Amino acid sequence: MADKTLLRINNLNVEYYTNKGILGGKSTIHAVNGISLDIYKGEILAIAGESGCGKSTLAKALIRLEPAKSGEIYFDSKNILTLMGNDLKEFRKKAQMVFQNPYASLNPKMKIVDILKEPLEINTDYSPEKILETVKEKIRLVGLDESCLELYPHEFSGGQRQRIAIARALVLNPEFILADEPVSALDVSIQAQIINLIKELNKNFGLTFLLITHDVSVIKYLADRIAVMYLGEIVESGKTEDIFQTPLHPYTKALLSSAPQLNKTGKKITLKGDLPSPAELPQGCKFHTRCPYVMEKCKTNIPQGKGITHKVKCFLYE
Ligand code: SF4
Repeated sequence: MADKTLLRINNLNVEYYTNKGILGGKSTIHAVNGISLDIYKGEILAIAGESGCGKSTLAKALIRLEPAKSGEIYFDSKNILTLMGNDLKEFRKKAQMVFQNPYASLNPKMKIVDILKEPLEINTDYSPEKILETVKEKIRLVGLDESCLELYPHEFSGGQRQRIAIARALVLNPEFILADEPVSALDVSIQAQIINLIKELNKNFGLTFLLITHDVSVIKYLADRIAVMYLGEIVESGKTEDIFQTPLHPYTKALLSSAPQLNKTGKKITLKGDLPSPAELPQGCKFHTRCPYVMEKCKTNIPQGKGITHKVKCFLYE
């Protein structure tokens, strides 16, 4: 593994099962399909894609909140899918998650000080004084005053709650933070504050972020690299500037055209049909049912992918 790689995903597959309803039986949902991807130390990597593409399932699998069916995920050269006991506990200290909804992710019955103390009490042997000192340090780091520690979550705005959620993710000094749609539940007027906080934490402390979002503007501002996901696969990945300058995959072009302020052509590309169900994946290229450039071979053959730093899975480039 290259020195700069913090997390390496090899051929990861995640499936789960849902009831078929009145017909009975179970459907297999193929949420993540053979994903291989490196996340580099100190970068912000964005996973982009529409709702239902599997990006949140991928995120949860990376920190063992969702079981993987097969594949490997290396963090600091250890396959985290095989970790148990203390090794798993150590990994969980290093990899933290910030959830989409700061209203649901903070226990309404606990004071902020207790919410922030909890991970330290469970995972460290710090003295009570050191725990309180750490909590105060992190709450200041996210731009809040120590006086807020004695209050309850309902006494804060959505933006302040998301700052508190980020402080909780920081108390164990993680190396990697997974942020799942961190601003989509917030008013547009305060989204920029949280976006800037993530950028500062990345720049000032070298924290590595995996950003899960459907918001192309947030990606453009924050991410160093992008991986575009469609039906559980990465169809294109590369540096943010390259992908915005020269998107290659037809799905990436459509996705980027959905942000009018970033769309150089001014034309929005509307895809036909809806995202197919991950319970019934199309044969061949999974995008072929909606692709404006579909060829006969796309319906039966799977593109293998081309490129080194800017990679794309599409027969137009093979
Ligand atoms: Fe479209 Fe074919 Fe490329 Fe798939 S492989 S994106 S169907 S042109």
